[in-house]
Amino acid sequence: MTTQGHLFFTISTSFLIQHFICSQFMHHDDWWRIIPISIITCLLPDIDHSKSIISKKLKYFSYIITKLFNHRGFTHSLCAIYLIYYILQIISNKIIFLKMDIQLGLIIGYCTHIIADIITPHGVLLLWPLKIRFKLPIITRHLFTEKFFCYIYFVFSVYLLYPGYNHILIQFCIKTYIKLLNNIY
Ligand SMILES: [Zn+2]
Repeated sequence: MTTQGHLFFTISTSFLIQHFICSQFMHHDDWWRIIPISIITCLLPDIDHSKSIISKKLKYFSYIITKLFNHRGFTHSLCAIYLIYYILQIISNKIIFLKMDIQLGLIIGYCTHIIADIITPHGVLLLWPLKIRFKLPIITRHLFTEKFFCYIYFVFSVYLLYPGYNHILIQFCIKTYIKLLNNIY
């Protein structure tokens, strides 16, 4: 999946998660922050690909990771999710306290990247080091393209988020999204 696809997939998923799950146990002022925070980690798993945007930003770290692991291997696995969780716990306990919404947002961002790659034909090695490829190729190159999928998913998530104003919101989203896609591609 492309960088733009990952960003839109993460934003849309964060909408749904925060509205249907986090709002049940978190204060509004806390759970809204999950969206911007999830964007921070949503590109991180692709540090294992030398041409990704995150790799260009973290060159030396990416160099080591790409030498050690194949693309969509360790960094796209449950092991990596646990490692991120573990690092967050250490940071929170020993360096600076991270509130629950921040930790949740960072984990959600990372997980949504992996889910987004699972729904592509290439899939991921979710149970790395086992070489079992997990894929549910909803996105295809021809019929249900990434651009089309992200568009539908984004509108759908906004629709569910604000059903009372959906007619205004959907019109706005469609126009904005089309403009964005025209600029991106
Ligand atoms: Zn990836």
